[in-house]
Amino acid sequence: MSIFTKIIKGEIPSYKVAENEHFYAFLDINPNAKGHTLVVPKKEVNKLFDLDEELYNGLMSFSRKIALAMEKVIPCERIGMSVIGLEVPHVHVHLIPLQKMEDIQFIKKVTLEPSDFEAVAKAIAENI
Ligand code: 5GP
Repeated sequence: MSIFTKIIKGEIPSYKVAENEHFYAFLDINPNAKGHTLVVPKKEVNKLFDLDEELYNGLMSFSRKIALAMEKVIPCERIGMSVIGLEVPHVHVHLIPLQKMEDIQFIKKVTLEPSDFEAVAKAIAENI
């Protein structure tokens, strides 16, 4: 079972942003920027392009809703999207508030207090 499946099942805590039947969105624990969100299909599939077309399109559609909400509440130039998966072999879309190119490069991380995570997760959730 992947660490993200454990998060979806509630066995590991997360700062939840949104959920529906097929997808779960939560804050990345080691964010590139405040509000950095991960969107995962509940079905445990390793690689993005191995998702069937319906689930792939559903993931993009769900991610778009989250990104539009993020853009409303987080000051940034735009929301960037990246799919990597070299660390966790369970498909996840990174949605990252961008100010500059390095924010999407997974080089510099920000340190947030639990209260910051809680506040930003709530703000995004309320604007979906
Ligand atoms: P990738 O697989 O795309 O290279 O990176 C995995 C991402 O998942 C990283 O940005 C990492 O910070 C995040 N991550 C790994 N483990 C956890 C976890 O237990 N909880 C949360 N919220 N994020 C995690």
